[in-house]
This record gives sequence, C-alpha cells and structure tokens, in this order.
Amino acid sequence: AKWVYTFGDGKAEGESGMRDLLGGKGANLAEMSNLGLPVPPGFTIPTTVCTYFYEHDRQYPPELEGEVARALDFVGRLTGKVFGDAENPLLVSVRSGARASMPGMMDTVLNLGLNDATVEAVARQADDRRFAYDSYRRFITMYSDVVLGVEHHNFEEALDLYKDRKGYSLDTDLNADDWAELITRYKKIVQDHLGKPFPQDPKEQLWGAIGAVFGSWMNARAIKYRELNNIPASWGTAVNVQAMVFGNMGETSATGVAFTRNPSTGERALYGEFLINAQGEDVVAGIRTPQDITEAARIASGSDKPSMEKAMPEAYAELVRIYGILERHYRDMQDMEFTVEKGKLWMLQTRSGKRTAKAALRIAVDLAGEGLISQEEAVNRIDPASLDQLLHPTIDPKAERKVLATGLPASPGAASGEVVFSSEEAEAARKAGRKVILVRVETSPEDIHGMHAAEGILTTRGGMTSHAAVVARGMGKPCVSGAGQIRVDYAKRAFTVGGVTVQAGETITIDGGTGEVLQGAIRMQEPELSGEFATLMEWADKGRKLKVRANADTPRDAETARNFGAEGIGLCRTEHMFFEGDRIVAVREMILADDEAGRRAALTKLLPYQRGDFLELFTIMKGLPVTIRLLDPPLHEFLPHTDKEIAEVAAQTGLSPEKLKRRAAELHEFNPMLGFRGCRIAIAYPEIAEMQARAILEAAVEAQAKTGAAVVPEIMVPLIVTRAEFDLVKARIDAMAEAVFKEKGASVGYQVGTMIELPRACLKADEIAETAEFFSFGTNDLTQTALGISRDDAATFLGPYTQKGILPSDPFVTIDQEGVGELVRIGVERGRRVRNNLKLGICGEHGGDPASVRFCDEIGLDYVSCSPYRVPIARLAAAQAAI
Ligand code: PEP
Ligand code: MG
Repeated sequence: AKWVYTFGDGKAEGESGMRDLLGGKGANLAEMSNLGLPVPPGFTIPTTVCTYFYEHDRQYPPELEGEVARALDFVGRLTGKVFGDAENPLLVSVRSGARASMPGMMDTVLNLGLNDATVEAVARQADDRRFAYDSYRRFITMYSDVVLGVEHHNFEEALDLYKDRKGYSLDTDLNADDWAELITRYKKIVQDHLGKPFPQDPKEQLWGAIGAVFGSWMNARAIKYRELNNIPASWGTAVNVQAMVFGNMGETSATGVAFTRNPSTGERALYGEFLINAQGEDVVAGIRTPQDITEAARIASGSDKPSMEKAMPEAYAELVRIYGILERHYRDMQDMEFTVEKGKLWMLQTRSGKRTAKAALRIAVDLAGEGLISQEEAVNRIDPASLDQLLHPTIDPKAERKVLATGLPASPGAASGEVVFSSEEAEAARKAGRKVILVRVETSPEDIHGMHAAEGILTTRGGMTSHAAVVARGMGKPCVSGAGQIRVDYAKRAFTVGGVTVQAGETITIDGGTGEVLQGAIRMQEPELSGEFATLMEWADKGRKLKVRANADTPRDAETARNFGAEGIGLCRTEHMFFEGDRIVAVREMILADDEAGRRAALTKLLPYQRGDFLELFTIMKGLPVTIRLLDPPLHEFLPHTDKEIAEVAAQTGLSPEKLKRRAAELHEFNPMLGFRGCRIAIAYPEIAEMQARAILEAAVEAQAKTGAAVVPEIMVPLIVTRAEFDLVKARIDAMAEAVFKEKGASVGYQVGTMIELPRACLKADEIAETAEFFSFGTNDLTQTALGISRDDAATFLGPYTQKGILPSDPFVTIDQEGVGELVRIGVERGRRVRNNLKLGICGEHGGDPASVRFCDEIGLDYVSCSPYRVPIARLAAAQAAI
C-alpha cells in the first residue's frame, strides 16, 4: 500500500476524485496543484492510515515513517529548506481532512518545526524577529492546546495579563521582545502543566500532531457529530502536512477566506474577509474585525479599513484570476482559504461552499445561464428539503421596530424568542416548548445542539465566516453575528447595549437578512419567492412525471397551494370545515340527534355552509381536480369534553347537560382510530354522506356555470376495507347526483373513488377497483395499521427505534418502503390490473417527503398530495426522481 501522497510544483499524486482516500482537503489541494495553481507543497497521509491505526491498537503501518521522511525531503527540495535544520528550517502546517468536513475534530497546527534554535534562524532569514517570535508563540499555543491538552485559555490569560501590565490593547502592540518574554512564560505554563518541557524536536512535534489528528477522529465531539450526520466511523480522516506560508510577515502579508459568490444571496461577486499581518486562525476566531476583499463590499459595509482590492492590488488580481479558474473547473461556487506572503498569493484550500437555500437557487440558475451546468443539473443541485428555508417568514417592513443593535446578516430569515445564554438552556427551553434565541459571544462546535434547539442565533463576535454564521446557514436558521455593540455578561445572565439591559427570558427578535437585533416580538410576514425560484421550478416542472397536488381544507389553504404551484387538491378533509364559525353547533345537533329525522334536520342547516365552502374551493382551483373526502373522524371528536364546554353547548342547543354527557359516554371508544370512523359512519348514517354529496355536486354545477370551466369533483370515501362498503356508499352518491342534476337541469362530470389506507384494502385492490374510479393512498393510516403503531402515540417510543437503527427513519415521515411501500405496490398493481386508467395518488404526510416522493415516482403513481407549503419541495423532489 501507499501511505503518503505528495503535491506541489504543478503536479500531485492525487486528484479531486480521490476524496475517499485523501479527504476533501487533501483531494482538492492535489487538484489545485494539478491545475498549476500556487499551492504550498506538501503531502497527504490518507484515510487508510487512520483505519490501519484503529485496527492495529493505534500503531502506524511500519512503512509510514520512511514515506513521511521522503515526502518531507520532497517538500524541502521544492522550498529549498530542510525540516528540523537549525540554519534553514522548513516549517509546516498539519491539518485534518475527512471526506466530509467535520467540526469537532482537531483542525490545524501552524508553524510546526519551530523551537528555540529554529526560531532564531527564521528571524535571521526573514530579517524580522517580531515575526519569528510571533509565529513561535502561536505554535506553542496551538500545539499545546490541540496536541498536549494544555488549554488555550491558559495562554490567553497570560497574554491578557502581560498586555494589561504593559498598557497594550492590541496584539499588534507587542514587539519582538514582548513576544520573546511571553514565549518564556508560555513554555513555563507547559512545564507546569505537564511536568516536562515543550517538545523541541521537530520530528517529535510532527508525529505528535499527526497522532493528535488521528486521535481526534475518536474524540467525543467527533463521534457525536458523526452520529448526527450519519457519517460512518470507518471512513477515517486524512492528515495534510504542508509547507508554511506566512500571512504574518508584516503589512504586505495577509490571510483570508473568500467565496466565489455571496453565500447568503448567491450574488456573483467575490465575497469574503481578510486580515493583514495575521495567520489563518485569526479570521475564524474573530479576534480582530476582518477587512473586506472587494472595494464594492467595503463601500457597502461602510468600513474605514481598506479592502484587499485597494491594499494589495496584485494579490487581489491573482485571487480573481484563480477563482475564475476554480469555478470553471469545479463548476460550482467555491469556498477558498488563502495566504499572502510578502505580496505573493498562496491557495490553502478550496471546496464547494456552504450556502443558504436562497443562494443555492440563484447560483444554480446563474451557473446554468453561464453555460457551466445544464438546467437538469441545476435542478439536481438543490436539496428539496432546503426550500423550506425560503418559505420562512421575514419581519413585516411596516411593523414597528426598536433596534437594539446591528450585526452582520449571517443567515437569512427572522425569528423571535426568549434570550438564553447557553446551549444547555436552549435545549431545556425547547423541550419545555418555549422558543429561544441563543445569544453567545461566539459559538463553537459544542454549541451545535443549542443552535439546533434555538429559533435563531446571535453572536457578538466573529464575521460572516465565523462558526455561528456557517453552521446557522447550514441549518437554515436565522443568525446575526458580530453584533459588537452588545456586551454579554454570562454571570449575570444578561446583555447590555446602548443603555438597555436584556435579561435571560426576555424576548428579542433577530433579522438574519439585515443583521438587526430588535426588542420584543415583531410582526412577521410570509415570504415572497424570488425570480430564480420561479425559474428553477419551471425547469423542475419540465422534467417531472408526477403531478403535485395539495392537501387543502379551506379557501386560504387552496390559495396558498395555487401560489406554490399545486395542480389540484388531493385531499380536502371536510371535517375541518365543521369547526369553522358557528357551524359546529349544527354538527353537534346532528351527532346528538335521537333519530334519523333529527339528524336530517341538523344536516339541512349544514348543507348551505358546505356548499359555500366547496363553491369557493372550486372557484379558486379553476377547473383543476379537487378531491373531497367524506367525513372521516370519530364523531366524539366534535363533542364538548369539559364541564364548561358542555354547559356552553347545552345553552346553544337547548339540550340538557346530562343528555350531552350521556351521548358523549355512548360515543366513547377504547380505540377510536380503529373504531366508528371513515366509511363506517356513512354506512350507519348514510344521510351524512348524502348531504355532503349534495353540497359537493350543487357547488360543482354552480361553479361550472359561473366560471365556464369544467368542474370534475372527485368524491372520496375513507377507510374502505371491502368493496361492499364502497359500493353501498357509492350508490348513495350516484343517486344523489342524479337527483341534483335533475333539479338543476345541468350536470358535471364527477368521479367516486376511495382512500386506500388499510392493509386489507391494498390486498383487495383488484376487487375495489372494479367500482372505484380512483385510489388515494392514505399512508398515515396505512403506516399506523401495517406497523400496528399508533400515529398519535408513536412519538413517545419511536425515538430509540431510529437511534438504534431498528427502523432507518420515522415511518410516519419517510415511507417504510419495505413494508408499507410493499402494500402500496400491491395496491397499485392489483388496482391497475382491473382498471388500467385507475387514477392513483398519495395523500399521507409522505407526499411532501423527498425520499417518499421518489418512491411514489418509482411505483408509477400519478400524483402526490402534500401540505401547501411543501408543494415546491414535492415538485423539485419529483423532478429529481425523474431526471
Ligand atoms: C391518511 O391516513 O394518510 C390520510 C391522508 O388521512 P388522515 O391523515 O386524515 O387520516
Ligand atoms: Mg386516514
């Protein structure tokens, strides 16, 4: 086996396709070398070494040491330096790099190879003592923290103390002698902690760092992250060792990060931050406020510090040249790290950049417009679930707002919540059902769980590329970062800004689109969708086979569904209409009636309401198909339960409270979901189905006359087990249709079909299809009955099932393809065998879940139906399934 892969000088032993072996960072460093871009030479120890390491009791392959030595010689030849040499030392960086980027692992050690002797050589060669000592103190701090386990704060405290004593405020105030003095103190801190000196042997340093990278693969944070993100432990990490280039060599040196396009908006412009006379970690750590890369960005931000474009025009031009090459090569937006050493630009990393859903859309559409990718590829690049982010509310511009502070607009969307200051509080509050905004000076990988629990994140330090910003964008949560005017006092559990103190528990609102932090809860408004959204959806619609309908019960739902591109209503749950306004009174009268005559009297009152509802739906849907389901839930759901409610209903209906209680007790069921519901109600009380059929058909006739468009209502019978049930109900509907058409002297086309939501109905689909004109798979009830897991109680015990891998995912979210899916397949196959034009859809929650939509496409359904807000997700998922 080969245990080391070198890169540098316009070539490499690896390339970007070798990501599994070299990790993301290593593969792209190799690729950039192959492209002839300026990459400091180095080598990658592949993930196979990590695997070997853990399979052999933390031993390395015996050949590794020799291969590393040879690779160090190779790097030395290219740089004209020698690793460990006291006169002309080669310094290196050591970085981890797994297949997927993984916060929580050891990240980086810079300036490795420095010791008491080599630091003097570096000072001589650079003719800059301050630079040499600055690098050495950085190395001691980083190495001690991540390799030796002497925490960073020990050194920070010593530095702060020293600065206070000297009256310095910035790190840049320290001169060479100051750093030399601090180095002595730092070494003593290490000695005191470990009982032995800071390692002086560069070889020992290097193997210590390599061991720390591999060791960090199994630290608790990395394990937790892998668990959350389904990354197998077997992947392992690679280690990248690379010749140092220095961003801290004075005013002509710098370090920075840049995106080739704006990761928040997708705008096509170089976007990022850099710091003069600094090393990489300074930008991410937010110790100093970074400067803008382009002059346009500087003007927009109003910063008084020069942009890179102005301060370092040559390095900037080189960056522009390189980013063009990288975008064309990778055909995607890139996130790059670079260093400028004495005016020369070096690339340290490139990868496909994380972005908001909004930016992802714009970038995909733009790249297709620029001819870099096809329209189909653009459609495939958008994660359907991420569209949810675009449908987030924003602050109503007309709402009154009291701005407390303004930070950076790090991740779009707005959110209100109670202030909490720790991830633990955030999680606890979330569990108690409260909404919170997590407020931190800065966040670290330990805060991921708190960020998950919060509605939004506010930090007082760090830029657009800080941990908080990057992670929040990935999660699709609003985030304001770097709101520097805010002073957080963790001990007092409060923050102050401009004379205002906000305590933990008080409500604030953050606007991740503008960077504003506002007092109180502010009125929000529904999102408006961008032009790119419409374009991408148009492309998606060209590619898909599945139609997408919405589950909509009210005119408002129907409007929303239409706006999101629904091609009909796949499920109107009529019972939801029964609760609107004062119609519940008539519903209750109907349920409480002693006999059929009493029920019919109450139903006569309900008829005009229902007819009005349907007329509105048909009018909004303008001739698109509308599936209306007959009453489904158990009747007791409509009855009052508490004494107070019972008294109210008694007053409304004129019935005695005793009678109400008695009737409620009669309707009580031990297992209502398997009880008197669905078509069973229509079998026992056909007059209810008749009233609903009349309302639907009269409304259809009226809508057709009014709009001139053909209205074809699809009347759906729920919870069928046998064909005989269906036939009984269908006969009543057909008879009603005949009557209505005769009365009106006009008719409409209509269909009568059924929900298939019980296992027996799937098995007997052939029989049922003889008379049913369409099927809609109700996979909520089908999952409940096939698995025997109550859909209303599952949450209390299903957690361990997915955590322990017993079920791959929550079967009420993503369809259980092997079990429930098999029943649906049987239903499709047997149904179509009898009626080849049988219309088939799904209206369970799975209709809006991308993985389930793919399955529906595979088994040949005609449409999926989902909640209105998920219609775009389903459209995109359907397109991706077909492409
Ligand atoms: C279903 O069971 O999947 C369905 C859509 O009906 P409901 O959720 O109303 O029971
Ligand atoms: Mg159902």
